Amino acid sequence: MEIITKAPEETSALACRIGKNVPAGTVICLTGDLGAGKTLFTEGFCRGLGIDSDVTSPTFNLMNVYEGRLLVRHFDLYRLEDESELEEFGFYEYSEPDDGLVLIEWADKFPEALPEAYIRIHIERGQDENERVLSFTRAGEIDAAWLRELLSQEGK
Ligand code: ADP
Ligand code: MG
Repeated sequence: MEIITKAPEETSALACRIGKNVPAGTVICLTGDLGAGKTLFTEGFCRGLGIDSDVTSPTFNLMNVYEGRLLVRHFDLYRLEDESELEEFGFYEYSEPDDGLVLIEWADKFPEALPEAYIRIHIERGQDENERVLSFTRAGEIDAAWLRELLSQEGK
């Protein structure tokens, strides 16, 4: 599934809508180059969950935690050099949430470390400066119809 956005606000609005409707236990893996829009997406997503604190990339601390409708753990693996570091900062304790949500920027760096089921959102630059192509794919037991429904909640 692909969604094209023409401005940062459109990506935020889409992410916000997903944040509003996403159920507990969901993991979202965000991939794409620097400046693709992974953090912007996370910010919009958090806004949808009623989180109004600053959402920035946890590049140095590796994990930020926000509390809204659900607890959100936001990881950024960009600076991580070795998979063993994941264990040190508790990645495995949190990456399969029962009652919260997880977003992982640069999730493709350590594919082996990812939980079984997740939604992958790959963001790429489109034809102009402010265009982005967001590709949604599923891993594990994520239902296709469920994902389509989540993405199509226009205006809700
Ligand atoms: P990443 O976390 O992937 O490195 P950021 O979210 O920090 O990227 O930055 C994305 C940048 O791209 C922001 O400055 C944002 O304003 C800009 N941008 C331009 N157009 C879009 C769009 N359609 N969707 C998302 N971001 C966009
Ligand atoms: Mg980022």
